[in-house]
Amino acid sequence: MTEEIGFIGLGNMGGRMATRLAEKGRSVVGYDVVPGLADKARARAAGSVAEVAAAADIVLLSLPDSNVVEALMYGDNGLLAASRAGQVIADLSTAAPASTRALHQQLAAKGVSYLDAGVSGGAAGAETGTLTLMVGGDQAILDRVRPVLDCIAAKIFYCGAAGSGHTVKLLNNFLNAVSLAATAEVMVAGKKAGLDMETLLAVINASSGVNFASLNRFPKIIQGDYLKGGLTNTLMMKDVMLYAELLADLGVAGVNTSGPLAAFGLAKSLGYADQISNTVVDAIGDVSGGIRIQSDDKGSS
Ligand code: NAD
Repeated sequence: MTEEIGFIGLGNMGGRMATRLAEKGRSVVGYDVVPGLADKARARAAGSVAEVAAAADIVLLSLPDSNVVEALMYGDNGLLAASRAGQVIADLSTAAPASTRALHQQLAAKGVSYLDAGVSGGAAGAETGTLTLMVGGDQAILDRVRPVLDCIAAKIFYCGAAGSGHTVKLLNNFLNAVSLAATAEVMVAGKKAGLDMETLLAVINASSGVNFASLNRFPKIIQGDYLKGGLTNTLMMKDVMLYAELLADLGVAGVNTSGPLAAFGLAKSLGYADQISNTVVDAIGDVSGGIRIQSDDKGSS
């Protein structure tokens, strides 16, 4: 297939996914409000959203949130106006399901297909093309674009009607947020109690407290490697807020939302807003007497 793939939003995730598409031999036309990101991602740089829409039959989005997606869709010369029948737009952002469903309907009225494709696997998964995708929308349309998505993902789950992919993403990422925030708190407490960090982690990872953060994040964080390109505290907070809104819409008691809201809110307000959300452990450390879980010569800054 030689068709050009459009890619809008070339940040931590989008930039890596676009690069991965180029590595797999795909021709990519990219646009980001930050100049230079298309070149960095090995994409042909477009000057506008409309230029991407004119060049590509499949357009992928990786944008901060639904506010940005909507501004880009509905704005003057936006994607809604520039799109044409037969095109497929797949939104790889973590976005609000209600907004996604509305966009799906408006695009469908023009004959444009919209897939909501939540993404998991972080920067590392984007770099190696091993992401997990959770997709909502028309299954036949997913099958049509699957060869493109296979370049960036190891696992693709069809989750159901429009909005289902973004809904699944919010549910999964809430568990990610809870385990990260809770493990950060536990590690700070362990340090303050005088425990050896490697031993504490080894015990957790062989016991009932084991979780994604204790297995995959903290063994690196205690060595001073906070990992690069992952979700910032601002974006993590956005995801937890979207989860809380989803639960309110569904009428489900959100009895666990206050923990991560407090933890990532703290990180944002203490100056870690644009840093990877793994720094939540430093924010908790800051208000716990200046604790760092690394040995003295290692740290985030
Ligand atoms: P990011 O902030 O690094 O990238 C977003 C990009 O969008 C930036 O380069 C920004 O300049 C660009 N942008 C903003 N407004 C734009 C506009 N109007 N037109 C064109 N480009 C615009 O964020 P990210 O970490 O790459 O995350 C992107 C999305 O993926 C978010 O919704 C996030 O929640 C989700 N996500 C991120 C991760 C992760 O580990 N980083 C994992 C899964 C999902």
